[in-house]
Amino acid sequence: MFYSAPRDCPTTLLCPHCQTPLHIARSCHEVFMRCPDCEKRFPLKDFISQADAAMEEFMENVYCDRI
Ligand SMILES: [Zn+2]
Repeated sequence: MFYSAPRDCPTTLLCPHCQTPLHIARSCHEVFMRCPDCEKRFPLKDFISQADAAMEEFMENVYCDRI
């Protein structure tokens, strides 16, 4: 398998604390939103209703990897 799926991808959603664009990122079994500026992490479920195209694509890759 190619090592092509990104582990961290910029999105258009803004950090609730500092308004920096958040990144969507994943660890082994978890996907979360993180702020590159204030280093805070946020649960994905808090942002899923506003998911942008970058997030949709990222999540598709995550689910493919699990199979
Ligand atoms: Zn922030």
